Amino acid sequence: SEERSLNFLEQIVEEDIAKGVNGGRVHTRFPPEPNGYLHIGHAKSICLNFGLAKKYNGQTNLRFDDTNPVTEDTEYVESIKEDIKWLGYEWANELYASDYFEQLYQFAVTLIQKGLAYVDDSSAAEIAAMKGTPTEPGKNSPFRDRSVEENLRLFTEMREGKHPDGSKVLRAKVDMASPNMHLRDPLMYRIKHAHHHRTGNAWSIYPMYDFAHGQSDSIEHITHSICTLEFVQHRPLYDWFIEQLNIFPSHQYEFARLNMTYTVMSKRKLLQLVNEGHVTGWDDPRMPTISGYRRRGYTPSSIRHFAERIGVQKRDNLIDVGLLEFCIREELNKTANRVMAVLDPVKLVITNYPEGQTAELPAENNPEDESAGSRTVTFSNTLYIEREDFMEEPPKKFFRLGPGLAVRLKYAYIIKCDSFEKDADGNVTTIYCSYIPESLSGGDTSGLKVKGTIHWVSAAHAAKAEVRLYDRLFSVENPAAEEGDFKSFINPNSLEVVKEAYVEPVLLDAKPGDRFQFLRLGYFCADTDTVPGKPVFNRTVTLKDTWAK
Ligand code: ATP
Ligand code: MG
Ligand code: MG
Repeated sequence: SEERSLNFLEQIVEEDIAKGVNGGRVHTRFPPEPNGYLHIGHAKSICLNFGLAKKYNGQTNLRFDDTNPVTEDTEYVESIKEDIKWLGYEWANELYASDYFEQLYQFAVTLIQKGLAYVDDSSAAEIAAMKGTPTEPGKNSPFRDRSVEENLRLFTEMREGKHPDGSKVLRAKVDMASPNMHLRDPLMYRIKHAHHHRTGNAWSIYPMYDFAHGQSDSIEHITHSICTLEFVQHRPLYDWFIEQLNIFPSHQYEFARLNMTYTVMSKRKLLQLVNEGHVTGWDDPRMPTISGYRRRGYTPSSIRHFAERIGVQKRDNLIDVGLLEFCIREELNKTANRVMAVLDPVKLVITNYPEGQTAELPAENNPEDESAGSRTVTFSNTLYIEREDFMEEPPKKFFRLGPGLAVRLKYAYIIKCDSFEKDADGNVTTIYCSYIPESLSGGDTSGLKVKGTIHWVSAAHAAKAEVRLYDRLFSVENPAAEEGDFKSFINPNSLEVVKEAYVEPVLLDAKPGDRFQFLRLGYFCADTDTVPGKPVFNRTVTLKDTWAK
């Protein structure tokens, strides 16, 4: 990452530092609205804002953009803080836009006094009708020329709660003919007799995003205010308020929001999935939320690497979720201990291995990391193997078990299939094999060569575990872009639960969050539902298909 070229935001920051803008100071902010849990798109913004400040010895504020009383909640505030910390970032200050309500109010009064804001009694529909179109100028409101005194009196009354919701708004007096629709006398305040999660019933007016955001940046002396592309058109208004108020000149910069295949990325849609029970909660391992990825087994560094790899663009695009999967796979390949787990067991008996005899066979924990050490696995004459590792009538290049075929048991011996039994329904119930005593892994003198190696557990020694196999939540690449309800594209097979998998008994000690590679099956993470003696594992990501080789 040291060698990559600077992204456009880093270029801007470096130019500002070189020119001594703000004394070379870099101060960013991450401004979530506490109306939902953070998703992977937010993670990109977090990595960007915190990463930029870190790189240039600056600071980042965490500012809750809590100006909309209706949808916000402290549960969300807590989850947002937890997720940012988990990603590995520390904010310089924890701040709330609602703490600026009085200051913002005073800014509004200043604009009224300067003749740059007015109270409008028009209804929302009337205001919309007077707004014009991008090609036609708008019309001035009949209330636009109210006197400063009248505006001050009415605005005070609005604050005091003397007027009902929707009866009046405060608007900036900019330019009803501006080609930029956002400059056609934008709303600054609306009346809302609503309880706010922090300010309670103190306010009956609330500032609009456009009036609150830039002024909050300015109050905090934010140098680089980074937001997503849909705010490009808002930037002239952002600058206008700051100029007219003659306050600290924060600057806004825009980058492309992250969109990812096979998921949706808006809190509103994610909330629907939660509320309508399509998932078990915000932290369901299928959700693209940070808490979902955490529970699924993703690491903070894998998400940071993902954000770094996708970079910062100026054009909207759709990122392949495969890249995120690649990032976690690459990391867990280096760090996760290997164990054996059989998800769909069939019994295998080794007829020439004495019944009741056992052997403790050494098994390295991680071939990618010598320091991970080794464990032993118990071998016996009765094992479970994966049902799909046996075929009654195997095709030519099937390098696993079938009548007459030989395979290596991982960490153990080469075995050869002599016969098998089926039940009345035709299901294979027992596979009979003989083992080659000279073929033990690590000291094989048999001279035999087999192409396949399969995993197994000893039937009498295995522990039981529940295993949850997750797949993509949507069955189309871009559900938000499809016609109709995005929920009709939910993948009906996004979760498969294996109630009784057989696993190495070391997994009985797994604690929530512990990560493993189940040999040949994928990377798994102990779920928060794990209790001592009853482990539950989530499949984080599959391995690349290895047995086709
Ligand atoms: P959503 O549309 O999902 O509700 P939002 O923009 O309304 O997202 P906020 O809580 O306001 O959510 O976002 C906080 C910050 O995260 C903002 O600066 C926003 O630009 C950024 N952000 C939100 N979604 C994305 C995304 N998909 N990619 C990158 N940054 C994002
Ligand atoms: Mg927002
Ligand atoms: Mg939103």
